[in-house]
Amino acid sequence: MSSKLKILIVEDDSGICSFLETTLASNGYGYLTSSNGKAALCMVSSHCPDCILLDLGLPDMDGNEIIRSVRSWSKIPIIVISARTSESDKATALDLGADDYLSKPFGTVELLARIRTALRHTRTSSSDSEVALTESFHVGDLCIDFKKRRVSLGGIDVPLTPNEYRIVELLGLHAGQVMTYKQMLTSLWGPSIGSDNKLLRVHMTSIRHKIEPNPNEPMYFMTEVGVGYRLVDEVES
Ligand code: CA
Repeated sequence: MSSKLKILIVEDDSGICSFLETTLASNGYGYLTSSNGKAALCMVSSHCPDCILLDLGLPDMDGNEIIRSVRSWSKIPIIVISARTSESDKATALDLGADDYLSKPFGTVELLARIRTALRHTRTSSSDSEVALTESFHVGDLCIDFKKRRVSLGGIDVPLTPNEYRIVELLGLHAGQVMTYKQMLTSLWGPSIGSDNKLLRVHMTSIRHKIEPNPNEPMYFMTEVGVGYRLVDEVES
């Protein structure tokens, strides 16, 4: 058996499917393919893939059903690949437990970055407690020290309020992945906080003014319109 990481592609569009196969193969990944939901669910349990690329619009079932089913017993990363442009569809898939999404059309660089991030997060959330105890996160000039609860930019401390720090910390622990408004609100203030994103927006504006070189064109804290926020885990040098 090869030690290649194995990606399960669940996609009924043969054009997109062969693009994914070629991209994965030429970047050192192994892959399996299913063009429908039923076979995909069987393959998840029989082949234990390392990651799933999932189209939401499948001939025999809704991709969200697959997310629900897989999440009832497995933490395997799921990246939704969807032509659905509705923001609430994306948020629904993420709230059901998908790790991330790519909107069609997408490029090779974006695809590979999402896969790397998803695979890294499985490893850090594994039972290996030494890996799970992340002490800090660095990207570009930004550093989040989770132990000291301190954020610095180019070595200089950034004065954040306690709530601002908690938001930065949450996004830092999930760096590279989108967090939905609902996930953030629930995680920060509990389920009774409701779904008013205004609170997040206010804090995010302040965070960006303290951290971003240009708050109007963020390079660290990205808005995923109508869905949530993402702290990037790679910046162009
Ligand atoms: Ca489809």
